[in-house]
Amino acid sequence: MSIIVETFDTLAEAARAIGGDGRYLGGGTLVMRAANYGDQSFRRIIRVRDQGLRRIAAAGDRIEIGAGATMADVMASRDLAFLEPVARAIGGPAVRQMATVGGNLFAAHPYGDFATALLALDGKARMADGRETPLEELLARRDGAGLVASVSIARPRDGEFRFRKVSRVKPKGVSVMAIAAWLPGAPGRIAGARVAFGAMGPAPARARAVERALEGAALDESGIARALAAATEGLDPPDDPLASAWYRREVAPVHLRRLLLEDGRR
Ligand SMILES: Cc1cc2nc3c(=O)[nH]c(=O)nc-3n(C[C@H](O)[C@H](O)[C@H](O)COP(=O)(O)OP(=O)(O)OC[C@H]3O[C@@H](n4cnc5c(N)ncnc54)[C@H](O)[C@@H]3O)c2cc1C
Repeated sequence: MSIIVETFDTLAEAARAIGGDGRYLGGGTLVMRAANYGDQSFRRIIRVRDQGLRRIAAAGDRIEIGAGATMADVMASRDLAFLEPVARAIGGPAVRQMATVGGNLFAAHPYGDFATALLALDGKARMADGRETPLEELLARRDGAGLVASVSIARPRDGEFRFRKVSRVKPKGVSVMAIAAWLPGAPGRIAGARVAFGAMGPAPARARAVERALEGAALDESGIARALAAATEGLDPPDDPLASAWYRREVAPVHLRRLLLEDGRR
C-alpha cells in the first residue's frame, strides 16, 4: 500500500485535513518506523512546514515549548537548562536530532520520558484550535486528542526539579521507569509537590499519593517515609520484556528515595 505525504503551512490547516486515515508527522522517529513496518492504520502522512512550531519562549514564571522543538533544541536552550538531562536521556544523538516534544506526548509505553517531566512541571498543552488542555487530561486520553501546538510549563527555581530514568542499557536504553518531580520549597519544606512516573502505566501519570505525603515534609529520611510507602499507589505498572509489574513496584520506592534525597545534592 502506498502512503501519500501532504504538507501544510499551518497546524490549523493540518488539523482540519487529518481525518481518520492521516497520521501527523513530528520528527518521525516512530511514524516512519511504523510506515516502514507496514502499519496499515494510516494511509496519509500529514506534515507542517511552520518553523514557529519549534519556538521556545520564556515569559514570567512559565516557559512555552513548541511541539515541534526537538530534544536537541531543548538541550541547546538556556531557558530549559533544567530539562537538558531529560532530553539527553532520550535515545542516541541521531534520535535526539529528530524526536520532538509533541511526539513524545503521544509515544506509547515505554516511551514518554520527556512527557513525564512536562507533567511534573504542570504542563498545559495548547491545541491547534487554541484550546488549552492540562497534560494530565491529554495523556489520559491521547486517542483522538487532536494536534498539539505547544506545551507551557512552570519554570522551577534552582534545585526544585529532579528527574531520574531507570534503564537496563546505559546510556540509551528505554525506561524501566522514569520519575520526575517538581518540589517547590526544596531543599526546605515542600509545598505543592508534583511527582510523575513514566513507564508505570499506559501513559505517564501523576503519583498523587506521593504528592500528598510530601506536603509540608522535609527532604530527609523521616520526612519522606510516607511518600515512599505510597510510591506506587494509584499506578498500574505493566509486565513487559523490560520488567515485571512486581519488579517495578518493588524498585519504585528505592528510586524515588534516591531522587528525593540524593539527586538534590548533585
Ligand atoms: C532508537 C530509538 C530510541 C528511542 N528512545 C527513546 C527514549 O529513550 N525515551 C523516549 O521517551 N522515547 C524514545 N524513543 C521514542 C521517540 O523517539 C520519542 O518518544 C520522540 O519524542 C517521538 O517524537 P517524534 O517527533 O519522533 O514523533 P513522531 O514519530 O513524529 O510521532 C509519534 C506520534 O506522535 C504524534 N504526534 C507527533 N507530534 C504531534 C503533535 N504536535 N500533535 C499531536 N500528535 C503528534 C504522531 O502523529 C505519532 O502518532 C526512541 C525511538 C527510537 C527509534
